Amino acid sequence: MKKFAKVVSSPNMKMAAVRELNVAPNYQYNSVIIDEDIKDFGLNKKYFIRTYGCQGNLRDSEVIAGILKEMKYSPCQNVEEADIIILNTCCVRENAEKKVFGEIGSLKSLKQKNPNLLIGVCGCMVQQEHIVTTLLTNYQQVDIIFGTHNIYQLPSLIKDAILSNQRICNVLSNQGDIQEDLPSCRANTYKAWVNIMYGCNKFCTYCIVPYTRGKERSRKSVDILNEIRQLKEMGYKEVTLLGQNVNAYGKDIADLSFAELMEQVALTGIDRIRFTTSHPYDFSDELIDVIAKYPNIMKHIQLPVQSGDDGILKAMGRRYNRKQYLDLVKKIKDKIKDVSLTTDIIVGFPNESDEAFAQTLSLCEEVKYDSAFTFIYSPRVGTPAAKMKDNISMDVKKQRFNKLTATIAKYELEKYKTFEGKIIKVLVDGPSKKNEEILSGYSEDNKLVNFKGDLSSVGKIVNVKIIKAKTYTLEGEQVD
Ligand code: SF4
Repeated sequence: MKKFAKVVSSPNMKMAAVRELNVAPNYQYNSVIIDEDIKDFGLNKKYFIRTYGCQGNLRDSEVIAGILKEMKYSPCQNVEEADIIILNTCCVRENAEKKVFGEIGSLKSLKQKNPNLLIGVCGCMVQQEHIVTTLLTNYQQVDIIFGTHNIYQLPSLIKDAILSNQRICNVLSNQGDIQEDLPSCRANTYKAWVNIMYGCNKFCTYCIVPYTRGKERSRKSVDILNEIRQLKEMGYKEVTLLGQNVNAYGKDIADLSFAELMEQVALTGIDRIRFTTSHPYDFSDELIDVIAKYPNIMKHIQLPVQSGDDGILKAMGRRYNRKQYLDLVKKIKDKIKDVSLTTDIIVGFPNESDEAFAQTLSLCEEVKYDSAFTFIYSPRVGTPAAKMKDNISMDVKKQRFNKLTATIAKYELEKYKTFEGKIIKVLVDGPSKKNEEILSGYSEDNKLVNFKGDLSSVGKIVNVKIIKAKTYTLEGEQVD
């Protein structure tokens, strides 16, 4: 029987683009409210969370798990066992959305078998008007739709959906607040994601993130440092500081700059510190000096360039040109010994000529990245670039994509080969995906290492002698 859909709030891309820059974020502490009458809703019930996309979504899923645990739900490993399924979505490219619609479609039969099964969809995808319309119109099996700004409201949304037997949609398109002290079930016991800021004000013309994640807003450094000290006390070895644009940390509040925050995090003494994602425009000299100074700040920098051509960079709204980017790379390489540089590159952006693409290839030849995330341009509804004619054919896009990945792989293998015979430190994650006999983990400069070792070293930092380099991995054996 068709359920009525109660739309409390639905996304609005115009509102999502509003930025009041001189207004400090609204900090909310302990914002998760679980009413007395629903605190045991999850007793003897199971939850399953599927996460798509970035580390920011992985951290949000840890919070969703924390909230469900507070409602006495317990986790399960597959959708068949679940009483509530949450899909935490990504919309950075069309493929990501297609995968989600495919999964929602496949859940219809489960819902027919178990009408009490609750299906919730959240994350960046539902911050888009056309997506919510599609979900409400074509996907009756979806019971709860909530966004990136109101995860803390999940308990009341579940209550509403169950007690009113209605489908509930509540997606906020505001600039965003900051919720602190949210419950969370961390996916790992020795390395942790730590949000330092949310949102983005850059509005690169191809990017949907500023519309789905709100304005750039920084957490207070005291809350971040407390979180990291607690993690260290709990035995965590590694923290990754997260933000869509971490280099803009502190620009919206009277607090530390990103470089100053990184120094304070280093002084907590935690073994390993990483950060992602950077924007070259906000990458300061002070930050380069701090990274170079502290051994517990990992010498790996993800520095998206997107294109090597000034015309395309301008059309993308990236706020730097080729020379400025290469000057920054030179400064980083001069000051940070053996730095590992990785990047993001889009091919096939509207009006990308052969010459413009050649500029991207030559920039990769010059920088010699350790690796790169490479993407074929995918127009996002509501972004300025989506109004531009997508005039590069898929054939040409694929040809350029293959040329680019071959160029990147060439320098990647060259760099990996320099590790043969060396002993490096690896934080052990566990048996490798491909071979249970072999362990795997990441080096300080974020290279995946597969090695013969002792299973008891999972979660520890061990020394591994590198025997062989492959294009995307290093192979070795534990030496201590
Ligand atoms: S800086 Fe990154 S997250 Fe922000 S708009 Fe540009 S690509 Fe998107």
